[in-house]
Amino acid sequence: MKKTLITGAAGFLGSHLCDRFIAEGHHVIGMDNLITGDIKNIEYLFHLKRFEFFHHDVTKFVHVPGKMDYILHFASPASPIDYLKIPIETLKVGSLGTLNLLGLARDHGARILVASTSEVYGDPLVHPQNEDYFGNVSPIGPRGVYDEAKRFMESITMAYHRHHGLDTRIVRIFNTYGSRMRLNDGRVVPAFMGQALRGEDLTVFGDGSQSRSFTYIDDQIEGIYRLLMSDYVEPINIGNPDETTILEFAEEIIKLTGTDQKIVFKPLPQDDPMQRQPDISRAKEILDWEPKVHRSEGLKKVFEYFKSLSDEKLWEAHR
Ligand code: NAD
Ligand code: UDP
Repeated sequence: MKKTLITGAAGFLGSHLCDRFIAEGHHVIGMDNLITGDIKNIEYLFHLKRFEFFHHDVTKFVHVPGKMDYILHFASPASPIDYLKIPIETLKVGSLGTLNLLGLARDHGARILVASTSEVYGDPLVHPQNEDYFGNVSPIGPRGVYDEAKRFMESITMAYHRHHGLDTRIVRIFNTYGSRMRLNDGRVVPAFMGQALRGEDLTVFGDGSQSRSFTYIDDQIEGIYRLLMSDYVEPINIGNPDETTILEFAEEIIKLTGTDQKIVFKPLPQDDPMQRQPDISRAKEILDWEPKVHRSEGLKKVFEYFKSLSDEKLWEAHR
């Protein structure tokens, strides 16, 4: 039986990865320090013999006994309000955390996949973004703590591959949405859906002309799984190229949720990228992957999820 370590297991992507690797028949070790995650996302796996949970901060020395086949390093604050609140932890998990996990992979002879991001392209001057674009990132801006940590992560991962021959994979994840996102993580999908459910106006930052391209969770997990099982070591974008402006997106959410709330405009956060759309030619060619879930379908599913949360959770998340 394959043994797989998933860091950030109690978070949004990590918990869906746990599901996928359990379904693939692996023995899964989930690791998380719960700084932005929620143990409830994986609690229902606790009764399984093939699942173990280690409450651990990956920036501290990481030891896992026994054999190990795969490591997926997903631990990191991921939403702008999270990483602006805990900037040093964000830099540490991308740097020291990645270093610890690369060392662990080396000790175990395991293959490691690290979770990078479209944020390595910063506020891109090339559109759509392909993997050869070096990006446009301010190292000293507020978002730099996340962007530069991820750029360091990619750099040290390639160095371990080239220098130590480690079996590595790098996924550049574009904005992904789905169940188990925290309602108060500040990302635009839970923000707008929470506002619609609480009967509040939707807050569009800036004039809403900035764009994003949203990927449904199931498509993202499939792309990550295929990349891990491939033999491709350079970074690969996984994202849905279906691009929308944030203003259009707010209008779409108003229509979908049937709320009669309005749109209100708030200041644009510093360094908020103006446009973002993945070029997925590489994923198509190497992984035979492309997204299958249209945004209208994915948003319906995630709205059902947020609607099913208790009122207490809906308002607690707001505080
Ligand atoms: P999330 O906040 O839901 O999950 C991250 C998890 O990592 C949380 O459970 C948190 O407690 C854990 N964690 C953070 N620091 C840790 C540490 N030092 N030790 C152990 N655990 C720690 O975020 P997410 O959206 O699931 O993102 C997961 C990964 O995917 C992140 O690395 C993120 O950068 C990357 N990513 C996500 C997206 C997206 O759209 N969701 C886009 C690009 C990249
Ligand atoms: N955004 C917004 N209102 C909100 C939350 C976010 O207009 O309540 C905007 C944000 O400024 C950005 C886009 O939505 O332009 C996506 O934000 P998110 O935090 O989801 O992702 P990221 O900026 O990391 O791509």
